[in-house]
Amino acid sequence: TDLKNADLRNLAELGQGNGGSVMKVEHVPSGMVMAKKIVLIDAKPSVRKQILRELQIMHSCKSPYIVSSYGAFLAEPNICICMEFMDKGSFDGIYKKIGAIDIEVVRQVAHAVLEGLMYLYDVHRIIHRDIKPSNILCNSLGEIKLCDFGVSGELINSIAHTFVGTSIYMSPERIQGAEYSVKSDVWSLGISLIELALGRFPFSDPSDSDDENYSDLEGDPTQPSPAPSPAHSDLAKTAKLASSPDSGRTARRHSRRKSKGVSLDGGGMTMSIIELMHQIVKEPAPRLGPEGRFEKAAEEFVDACLEKDPERRKAPKDLLAYEWMVQAAQSTFDLKEWAGTF
Ligand code: ATP
Ligand code: MG
Repeated sequence: TDLKNADLRNLAELGQGNGGSVMKVEHVPSGMVMAKKIVLIDAKPSVRKQILRELQIMHSCKSPYIVSSYGAFLAEPNICICMEFMDKGSFDGIYKKIGAIDIEVVRQVAHAVLEGLMYLYDVHRIIHRDIKPSNILCNSLGEIKLCDFGVSGELINSIAHTFVGTSIYMSPERIQGAEYSVKSDVWSLGISLIELALGRFPFSDPSDSDDENYSDLEGDPTQPSPAPSPAHSDLAKTAKLASSPDSGRTARRHSRRKSKGVSLDGGGMTMSIIELMHQIVKEPAPRLGPEGRFEKAAEEFVDACLEKDPERRKAPKDLLAYEWMVQAAQSTFDLKEWAGTF
């Protein structure tokens, strides 16, 4: 590709993730605005070249549900990936800004993600591997697209010394060491959908939930609560930081760290992540609730995504045949108008 750093002018920082940062840039020769992802990699020159080759696949991904790629280049010691700029940002940012997302929009997110996963797998044999709200983007045309899919095995290996791929959206089978499959992405979609619909991360603090799967993590100050064990209160804090839509910038900054993979030596978060992983494996899957708040077809769909046994969990193609998704495809809901409200 003929993209190079010298032709790019920084406009703003869009966000920081585990492996690097994303800048809004202008490609000066063409006047085109792009998002430039800068990934710090720890790899030999031969591996870097291999990564660049692998990233070329991104270039050939053409789908209305996938963020377009304009090319990638080396800018030692980083790899830069230039992609379509999505001006409404990612869905984690959106719900942290406007609160719980209208279920009709959540339905459209589900539909777009399934279509995107189908495209990646059927056409390119790619498994996404990192479905979560921060990798689902929106623009003011009301388009919903996936980014940051696992095109490059070498890149995944080279994002040094972090728990790449270890995230709170990980399926029970992945936590237990199974290979990735497209069904692991389906689990992550289910978790993401609940997070958007509730406006917070769906795992509850095990120390204060009885039968109520959706206990308020903020707690009710008028109600005495049983003293949580240290590990549990740590989890409560983690989950709360990840989810609270109104806890301001500090919390948001922490939540950004938290929804990252969390490095082993990263300090206090490690224990709570392990607690959470344990909960994902041992406890019943979270559900879209509370009972009666959402239509049955929506509950059934999310339940299907969050089937704990990967053998029984549905693949994207089968999920697109669910009533809730068939309705999504026929919906006249105006996403463009919605995207204009924030
Ligand atoms: P992780 O590193 O764990 O994947 P992340 O997805 O939040 O976490 P990045 O992928 O580095 O981290 O992205 C950082 C932020 O940049 C995202 O949360 C998103 O808001 C923003 N962003 C990424 N790509 C684009 C894009 N193409 N257009 C607009 N904003 C983007
Ligand atoms: Mg990302």
